[in-house]
Amino acid sequence: MSNTAPIVQDVMTIPRKPVDGMTNIAGLTRDQLRDALIAAGTPEKQAKMRAGQIWQWVYNKGVRDFAIMTNLAKSYREDLARQFIIEIPEVVSRQISEDGTRKYLVRIVGGHEVETVYIPEENRGTLCISSQVGCTLTCSFCHTGTQKLVRNLTAGEIVGQIMLVRDDLNEWPEPGKSPNNETRLLSNVVLMGMGEPLYNFDAVRDAMKIAMDPEGLSLSRRRITLSTSGVVPQIAKTADEIGCLLAVSFHATTDDVRDQLVPINKKWNIATLLEELRAYPRLSNSERITFEYVMLAGINDSDEDAHRLVQLIRGIPAKINLIPFNEWPGAPYKRSSNNRIRAFSDIVHDAGYASPVRKPRGEDIMAACGQLKSATERARKSRARITDETGPADAV
Ligand code: SAH
Ligand code: SF4
Repeated sequence: MSNTAPIVQDVMTIPRKPVDGMTNIAGLTRDQLRDALIAAGTPEKQAKMRAGQIWQWVYNKGVRDFAIMTNLAKSYREDLARQFIIEIPEVVSRQISEDGTRKYLVRIVGGHEVETVYIPEENRGTLCISSQVGCTLTCSFCHTGTQKLVRNLTAGEIVGQIMLVRDDLNEWPEPGKSPNNETRLLSNVVLMGMGEPLYNFDAVRDAMKIAMDPEGLSLSRRRITLSTSGVVPQIAKTADEIGCLLAVSFHATTDDVRDQLVPINKKWNIATLLEELRAYPRLSNSERITFEYVMLAGINDSDEDAHRLVQLIRGIPAKINLIPFNEWPGAPYKRSSNNRIRAFSDIVHDAGYASPVRKPRGEDIMAACGQLKSATERARKSRARITDETGPADAV
């Protein structure tokens, strides 16, 4: 094996049996947990306190076994264990790129799979999580967009992606020590995996509330970024009910081109989207919006596009994140050349906006934006082909 080959490692392959009639605590909001405890027989007067205690064990300490929750009476712990489970999605496999990026294939109830990507950087570590299996939208440059929506993830499955990576990085705080965002391996979360988070609003909101709760996973709301293709009616609600940072998949400077690339533009066009975005920083008390702009050769990458872009967003506190297109087999576009990306970035930068070019990460393990799930599906298809050609394999 060459030393640049990714390490593929099966972490857990034993499928878990669904447990009938038990309530899963992972993903319940504090209020839902309190109500569930009352329904299970906890006296109403105590329920809030008990919910707080359980909450801290689960989200602050990473404990998923009631027996360890030693500030609860033993008989109460036994009661809980009879009625509740604390379950997060299971890791089917983990791949580690030569650059340290980790891609997890995660299995959710029903046997569907999503991907979660951890990207270590110098002073932080960012986790890219999925909100849906597939997507209802059909952006023409995105591989996830070629796959139908299978289902929305639950709040537990969304927050569970953060928890399973905390497990893998062995990063639950030591008893008595509060977590320190500056030195955490997993310090930031981006909703930029599979799916459109604003079409699964309630589950995304509940999961992010748990992530931001100081007694929960205690990530600052400024370290969580939600990326949307532009679901205009949900943007003010995001500011109001989640309050995290916002990224928007802008990708074009005329409605003609954006209609092609991000078809939701036919419903809410550039002018409508920009109007809504203008209010976001004030409503969410955040500094600026990230405009994501995928660089597609000959489609949206001209000097004129760059000039138009800065005209359009004038007055909105913004950063423009230029994403070199991640190609996938059969994709109808090519990545813009490095020189073109640099020229575009310079124009945007000279107009007064930060215009970083996103460094492709985890390319050797197909972990880049817009490629998620496709690699898994391809792997499954090629395994099926091998099986067809050679007969059933012993272990796949
Ligand atoms: N559905 C949401 C979030 C997931 S996609 C959204 O569209 O914003 C995360 C980012 O990756 C989006 O900006 C998306 O436009 C971009 N993306 C999708 N496919 C890509 C590809 N093949 N190459 C580069 N970026 C891509
Ligand atoms: Fe869905 Fe986002 Fe891909 Fe568009 S870019 S198809 S909204 S995941």
